[in-house]
Amino acid sequence: MPDSPRPAPLPYRQVAVSDTLRFNTPGRVPFSVEFMPPRDDEAELRLFTAAEAFHDLGVSFVSVTYGAGGSTRERTLRVARRLATKPLTTLVHTTLVEHTVPELIHMVRAYASLGLTNLLALRGDPPGDPTGQWVQTPGGLRYASELIELVTAMPEGRFFDIGIASFPEGHYRAKDLQQDTEITLRKLRAGAQYSITQMFFDVDHYLRLRDRLAAADPTEGAKPIIPGLMPITSLRSVRKQMELAGAQLPADIERELLSAAGGDERANRDRIREVGIGITTRMAERLIAEGAPDLHFMTMNNVRATQEVLHNLGMAPAWGEEYGHDMVR
Ligand SMILES: Cc1cc2nc3c(=O)[nH]c(=O)nc-3n(C[C@H](O)[C@H](O)[C@H](O)COP(=O)(O)OP(=O)(O)OC[C@H]3O[C@@H](n4cnc5c(N)ncnc54)[C@H](O)[C@@H]3O)c2cc1C
Repeated sequence: MPDSPRPAPLPYRQVAVSDTLRFNTPGRVPFSVEFMPPRDDEAELRLFTAAEAFHDLGVSFVSVTYGAGGSTRERTLRVARRLATKPLTTLVHTTLVEHTVPELIHMVRAYASLGLTNLLALRGDPPGDPTGQWVQTPGGLRYASELIELVTAMPEGRFFDIGIASFPEGHYRAKDLQQDTEITLRKLRAGAQYSITQMFFDVDHYLRLRDRLAAADPTEGAKPIIPGLMPITSLRSVRKQMELAGAQLPADIERELLSAAGGDERANRDRIREVGIGITTRMAERLIAEGAPDLHFMTMNNVRATQEVLHNLGMAPAWGEEYGHDMVR
């Protein structure tokens, strides 16, 4: 068998994300954060400051999303590479959108050569309109499970620790929850070690997903399911995110936020934010009590909101001037 190329050593060896879920200090729940590639160089610098602050708080891993379009994509790789030198366990999201198979192979080799061996294998949504018709790129792949098969079949594949997306309310394109369960299991059987969920606001949905997967396949279904949490800071943004995710904002949460808004969302922005952070904290507390393996904060690059939830959980100091920047867009 020919020698497989080794990833170039980073100054710090990358821990596999699935290992961060296994070896944690008793009593302490790991947390991780998701960043989007920042828009410009200045925002990129602020992101590194924020990432360092999360490092000091003991973040288990940092993930970087993958968008559509060349320069954003290059930024994902650049940001991920730099985060990984911090040292931060860095997870790169990768999608099939507008990529041929040779391009995907090239990209995976590039990650390996940079020492970035944590990959979130995703299909991605149609660019422009996420809910629009999915069109497979000619010469590309159709499903995230095929990307996992591609990576694990590559010589570099054995260095990778692969995660996937899972959907507490079912993926909006799936026929039903049974099909959604089968597809999630297919990705786990193909070699994924864990999943990160779509954001949700009803913890029962997360628990039902966990039960469904474990009942359908006790081995694969027992792999860690990391809950994705988006701290609520405004009604507008939470509604928009739920719409993009094809999911529902539970009526009681909407009522709680509307009551904080008191009929005037603009005038009561601070109160809505306060109540929103409280709701996210409550969800996190319940998830911790239910044994979630990690809390994954989808920060939307809003660092302060995440820090406030962590503070409420006793996992971070209160937000202070010296901490950094609240938005790193
Ligand atoms: C934690 C997380 C991070 C994300 N990060 C990003 C990101 O960085 N960039 C981005 O663009 N998007 C991101 N997304 C969004 C994601 O790409 C979309 O939700 C996408 O619609 C589904 O991706 P998937 O990997 O789950 O696809 P898949 O698992 O391939 O599923 C896609 C659809 O196809 C169906 N399907 C899958 N396999 C089969 C099969 N064999 N036969 C029939 N039907 C099948 C599924 O039911 C589903 O409806 C993220 C989502 C999550 C939850």
